[in-house]
Amino acid sequence: MNVCVQSGWLFSLPLALIGAVSAGVLLVALWVARQPYFSGRSTFVVLHAAMLWWLLAVGVELGVQGASCKVFWASMAWPGIAAVPSLWAVFLWQYVNSIRTPLRPAAYLLLGVGPLVACVLAIVNPGQLFYGPLTAPLNDLPGAPVIYQHGPLFNAVAIYVYLFMLFSLAVVLRGALASQGLHRRHYLAFVLVTCVPWLANAGHLLYGWSLFGFDPTPFSFAFTLVAFTLLITAVRLFDLVPVARHLLLEELPDPVLVVDAQGRVVEANRAALQLSGAGDDWQGRALRDWPLLGGELQRLLAQGAAGDDREPLLTLAAPLRHFELRARNIERQTRSGPLSLGCMLYLRDVTQRHLSELQLGEALALSEERLRTISSLHGQLQELALRDPLTGLYNRRHLDEYFVREQARCLREDKPIALALVDLDHFKLLNDEHGHLTGDDVLRELSRRLTDSLRGSDAVFRIGGEEFLLVLPGAEAEEAYRRLAQICQQLAQVPMATRVGNLVVTLSAGLSHWPAQGAALDGLLQVADAALYEAKHRGRNQVCMLQPTER
Ligand code: GH3
Ligand code: MG
Ligand code: MG
Repeated sequence: MNVCVQSGWLFSLPLALIGAVSAGVLLVALWVARQPYFSGRSTFVVLHAAMLWWLLAVGVELGVQGASCKVFWASMAWPGIAAVPSLWAVFLWQYVNSIRTPLRPAAYLLLGVGPLVACVLAIVNPGQLFYGPLTAPLNDLPGAPVIYQHGPLFNAVAIYVYLFMLFSLAVVLRGALASQGLHRRHYLAFVLVTCVPWLANAGHLLYGWSLFGFDPTPFSFAFTLVAFTLLITAVRLFDLVPVARHLLLEELPDPVLVVDAQGRVVEANRAALQLSGAGDDWQGRALRDWPLLGGELQRLLAQGAAGDDREPLLTLAAPLRHFELRARNIERQTRSGPLSLGCMLYLRDVTQRHLSELQLGEALALSEERLRTISSLHGQLQELALRDPLTGLYNRRHLDEYFVREQARCLREDKPIALALVDLDHFKLLNDEHGHLTGDDVLRELSRRLTDSLRGSDAVFRIGGEEFLLVLPGAEAEEAYRRLAQICQQLAQVPMATRVGNLVVTLSAGLSHWPAQGAALDGLLQVADAALYEAKHRGRNQVCMLQPTER
């Protein structure tokens, strides 16, 4: 070392360039070290440290004048030369795969083995197998650059380095092919950053390219530096959150527009451009002039401003699409209060939902209508099932329900119920003489007269062919007898109008009485039937009520 220091120093333009590049590399490394969201950050920093070491060794080699010192410092550069490609490969791998967790220290140590071995080999130069015997200064002038003869060990180290370079290139090329937009620009820049030092080095090794009589690779780091600075400032590399947001906006299937305070569209995602068919000159165009959407959006926004609470729905015809409009104000807080910068319009495609709602509404209305029809039909059917089609009177089916109800009521009110079983006399004969249709006329007319005789909660049922039952809630036995006798008498006195002319028809009736003659309907009907039988037996055209002993 002493010899080297004593051999003298010369400050030159290349040395100044190396110094400037080193300062730049240091700044970039420091800046990156402070970034919170940056995949592969620690590898990036270590990589720059290796780069700095390389530059430092090259700088010393450039500056010192003695040939042996130059060779010594050329050898000292090897930890940097061999470490840079391997660290670059690791960094790219971490960046492409968004790996934030740093490598373990052991892994960095492992990566350091190759560069260390290369350095030891270069310094020891066993059997002149690293730098060949022809390694010598270019000329006899002091400070003349040393021309190196590359031995097989040198080539082995070169292969080690090139394998990492190849790996790096494969990683970024794959990344560039698989990505789009801003991301692809990142990867293409990485491809360049990988290729330029590589080309410089390959040119030096294969074709003897040199800069200031040196391997041009460390000088190519100046290019790397410019590339990174550009990526950081212009493309906002490493600023992942805005990139991610931008990508998200682009990938969003729903249209998004950003409108400034003057109503001009300053940002629109792909979905918005596709929907509106706006041309390339869309940026800065007033929202109301936007094709397809503009006018309607403006109207909906005005509606929103007027305090309309309904969720604004944007409907586009041909093809029919519905969008729910969500407008978010973008404001900046100032000392004098919030200042509106514009708004973001988010159009959520609700076509499917809206159509489903409409269909659902229609289906609901239809099923309600059907339900109403079914309920009404059901009511009609129920009514029909309870009524006799010929006379329209209630039939036997309704009798049980009616009687139970009246019985409960009369029990509460402590009142009796009278039952009258009515049967036409010699009706078979009438049918035989005048025909069945005439018989029907008689049945209809009788039911009309019986119905006319009803009072209050009385009811009449057709319970058989020409048999009717009158139920008279609250009627005492005598009253029931009197009313039936009157019906019987009137029937015999007032002839019936039928299709064959007026006919005189008579009836017989048997009475029973609740609760005196039975508790249940069946028993009461039996008593009434027995009384009816008795009425027939006594000569017909009369009403009969049995006393308990007569049964
Ligand atoms: P009685 O005085 O003993 O009651 O004699 P009847 O002929 O009335 O007695 P019967 O029970 O033998 O006859 C009832 C007749 O009623 C028999 C049947 O043809 C007739 N009939 C039953 N239902 C109907 C109907 O819906 N329409 C018509 N026209 N006749 C009916
Ligand atoms: Mg009969
Ligand atoms: Mg009869």
